[in-house]
Amino acid sequence: METIKTDVAIVGAGGAGLRAAIAIAEARPDLKVALISKVYPMRSHTCAAEGGAAGVIKPDDSLELHFNDTVGGGDWLCDQDVVDYFVREAAKELTQLEHWGCPWSREPDGSVGVRPFGGMKIKRTWFAADKSGFHILHTLFQTTLKYPSIERFDEYFTTDLLVVDGRCQGVVAIEMSSGRIFQFQAKSVIVATGGAGRIFPFTTNGAVKTGDGSAMAYRAGIPLKDMEFVQYHPTGLPSTGILLTEGCRGEGGVLRNKDGYRYLQDYGMGPETPLGKPVLKTMELGPRDRLSQAFWHEQQKGNTIPTKFGDCVYLDMTHLGEKHIDERLPLVRDLSISYSGVDPVTEQVPIRPVVHYCMGGIHTNIEAETPMPGLYAVGECACGSLNGANRLGSNSLTELLVFGKKAAQNAMEFAGGGNKTNESAVSEQAEQAQKRITELFDKSGGGETISGLRKEMMDSLEKGAGIYRTEQTLKESCATISQLRKRYAGIELHDKSNVYNTDLFQALELRNMLDLAQTVAEGALARKESRGSHQRLDFVDRDDENFLKHTLAYHQGEETPRIEYLDVIITKSQPGVRDYSGGGK
Ligand SMILES: Cc1cc2nc3c(=O)[nH]c(=O)nc-3n(C[C@H](O)[C@H](O)[C@H](O)COP(=O)(O)OP(=O)(O)OC[C@H]3O[C@@H](n4cnc5c(N)ncnc54)[C@H](O)[C@@H]3O)c2cc1C
Repeated sequence: METIKTDVAIVGAGGAGLRAAIAIAEARPDLKVALISKVYPMRSHTCAAEGGAAGVIKPDDSLELHFNDTVGGGDWLCDQDVVDYFVREAAKELTQLEHWGCPWSREPDGSVGVRPFGGMKIKRTWFAADKSGFHILHTLFQTTLKYPSIERFDEYFTTDLLVVDGRCQGVVAIEMSSGRIFQFQAKSVIVATGGAGRIFPFTTNGAVKTGDGSAMAYRAGIPLKDMEFVQYHPTGLPSTGILLTEGCRGEGGVLRNKDGYRYLQDYGMGPETPLGKPVLKTMELGPRDRLSQAFWHEQQKGNTIPTKFGDCVYLDMTHLGEKHIDERLPLVRDLSISYSGVDPVTEQVPIRPVVHYCMGGIHTNIEAETPMPGLYAVGECACGSLNGANRLGSNSLTELLVFGKKAAQNAMEFAGGGNKTNESAVSEQAEQAQKRITELFDKSGGGETISGLRKEMMDSLEKGAGIYRTEQTLKESCATISQLRKRYAGIELHDKSNVYNTDLFQALELRNMLDLAQTVAEGALARKESRGSHQRLDFVDRDDENFLKHTLAYHQGEETPRIEYLDVIITKSQPGVRDYSGGGK
């Protein structure tokens, strides 16, 4: 097996991984950084983000308001020290991006433009038209290119973390174009592998979002935190799951049921406002969990529109005008026409809730540290508890930057602090990982298919652990996923070649997804309350007495995960009522 020696290995070259790489290269050009990604960096999911990134910049806004929106939006499951740090650093990071070349959209007076976003009770979302993620990722990517200490390993699929003496000392990765297996020996490792929306059948998430890094950390003994909290975005295109950004509603788009009625007023989201008037704080600008739940109720009442891709409601932007849509939402227009054959300038667009974001992930603290020395995690794969039970739109892109830098600072300090790699022990472990990969090629005759198991997993989660859950549906999901994990032993690779063997990568991804799916279903079954995105029809209230706690799921081999709980860090905001009924700016 070939060996690459580096100081810091970063797995993942999306927004989080790239930001971390830059921070290390800037501060410690003497440290080698290996930036490993299973796709070319610009194909990371960050590129697909449309709406924007939150940060306090306007005189009528304040850090306190951003803090309150985030903590309330997260239904008080956020760690408040983390939120505090985040809101303070947010605008600094977004300004830094501007200095690196990010073309933020402007106000007429030339200052940075901000748009309203769901659950943010004041306008604070910076945006670059409706291609914010694309511009952010480009800015970060082009900035990494000027640092010679960053060595990229594009299209390398990481399979395992290497843990020796209780410390993370590297990773194993397959070069996808050749099938060659490499061990990366590193003094510290940052996992930045993104989310896992692909465990559900209908999602905005790109095909690469299979939670690989989270599953690797989980199997290496790191708990996954709050995995039962899965966010549905209220406005996905029915055929593909492609997202129409919350910016649509931020710019004034409204939701209507089959009778043309703005139904959100029936769900505690504030009164009907005349069309064309700015609608802030209320109605369509409520948080995503509430809007997706309102859809479910409309569906139960028979107020949705049946289509061959499932029931829908309408997103109406026809009153915004062609000029405004072309300036602020050009991608939305393009996507609606291309994928649904509907021009939002003249017609209402059918949409439905779609799985969008995993609040849960690798357990980290405010320092982006995991419980394992030398191992850091950041971005959507991590759960640093900024987002609690429901992430507010536009906090995630900023989170990548703020905590990408933080993870980098700690990982480089650890790597520069005299921590040596135990080379022979690391190699031995890497060889075991290699053996597991080659064994996959040798298996035959089990009769299971990768696509078959994957479909069963997705359908079971959607049915049992979707927008609303009950003990019975969750138990069914848990039982199915347990079985699927066993049946995984019966898969067989039909492609035995070494060059871009997608059969192999899909097999590895499926194993990762099954592990994560189990933590979602088991965590949800154990949480007997409703909070944020986790809504149980059999426990409809939030239960702060018993569940103002983070769930920690520990891997137990073939068994179901062990569930433990951890206190939420509350510094200044005691749990209260989430009110989106109106008022304010
Ligand atoms: C359609 C869409 C729109 C969104 N819009 C917004 C928005 O407007 N505002 C906002 O704040 N948030 C938004 N989000 C959420 C936000 O974009 C994501 O949470 C965030 O971009 C994730 O960034 P990341 O760096 O953690 O991961 P990603 O950008 O997903 O990158 C993951 C990286 O890990 C690598 N990787 C994964 N597995 C492996 C492996 N096994 N081996 C090697 N490399 C691996 C991948 O190659 C990739 O480089 C949106 C999300 C979606 C899906």
